[in-house]
Amino acid sequence: MVLPNVMQKIDSHKLIHWFQSAKRDLPWRRNPTPYQIWISEVMLQQTQVAVVVPYYERWLKRFPTVHDLAEAPINEVLKLWEGLGYYSRARHLHAGAQTIVERFNGEIPSTPDQLKLIKGLGPYTIGAILSLAFQKQAAAVDGNVMRVLARFFAYREDISKSSSIKILRQIAEENVPQNDPGAFNEALIELGATICTRTPQCQKCPLRSNCAALAQELEHELPIKGKSVSYQQLFRSVAVVISQNRLLVKKGEKGSIMTDLYEFPYFEVEASGITTTALAGLLKKNFNLATREVASLPEFEHAFTRFRVKLLPVLYHSTQIKPVAGYEWLGREEVAKLPFSSGHRRILHHLQKEQLW
Ligand code: SF4
Repeated sequence: MVLPNVMQKIDSHKLIHWFQSAKRDLPWRRNPTPYQIWISEVMLQQTQVAVVVPYYERWLKRFPTVHDLAEAPINEVLKLWEGLGYYSRARHLHAGAQTIVERFNGEIPSTPDQLKLIKGLGPYTIGAILSLAFQKQAAAVDGNVMRVLARFFAYREDISKSSSIKILRQIAEENVPQNDPGAFNEALIELGATICTRTPQCQKCPLRSNCAALAQELEHELPIKGKSVSYQQLFRSVAVVISQNRLLVKKGEKGSIMTDLYEFPYFEVEASGITTTALAGLLKKNFNLATREVASLPEFEHAFTRFRVKLLPVLYHSTQIKPVAGYEWLGREEVAKLPFSSGHRRILHHLQKEQLW
């Protein structure tokens, strides 16, 4: 294993000084409470800043405190999260808020051991909360920071390996200063997000005089990353069935990827899809539901975890509201309040936009 040159140190003064003048004005940077730091850090995982801003603002309006979040029904929490993806984050925030109320009297705790008791908090978020909210000397190493560290210390190993993550986290811990650890961490994250990006802009970087990758002309070669995740492509024929102004939908089962999220009935099919008559046949066979085809709807792409899904929806009418095991027939008011998975929500929006329902 090639260990990086850790004799050098990140100049925290230079970095923080740069951050104070270059940082973007973001809502969670305006005197945030520990609760606001927690929410923003969770929302920002795997999601771009511009996407997060409106979600964050809506969230704080609806759940201004830990208590408001803990008391809210899960459907409402997921509804506010709708479109942000990785819904387990919202479920963990909800469960975490309940833990904070029950065990910590509604106050976000300030030690690593206590924070570990809160669902969904990993080393990055714990480090971010400790340093940003409580000014504790803890590192917060996300993907952006990994990239900066790998370059600054000319780390030549695959950074997706768990051994690399451990080494880089240790190096980060050794570099977090006693003074203003929160600003240091935020500055590193900001540097990775705005300057030390995939194509680094080294001429603007406050760390350039000490950067090992730049000195060795490796800034475009590093970091080394292993094979990216391979995605599985799925095709689903989706039956949007309306009867007496009600839509047939199913709530995602507990423990499934779509836990608590609503979807229309669908069937896994081959890439070529199936005919609308064959889909009606499946409705009849599986749900004993007689339907009449109304229209083929546009295809929608949908991605989650390691899956890419092409949704092939068709609109049907059924004259009868027949009970279908595991499904519900819901009217407009109920549907408007429920969280849908992102692909099925797009189908729903299309129905509404085209006044098909
Ligand atoms: S000098 Fe370039 S490679 Fe080094 S940390 Fe700055 S932006 Fe990244």
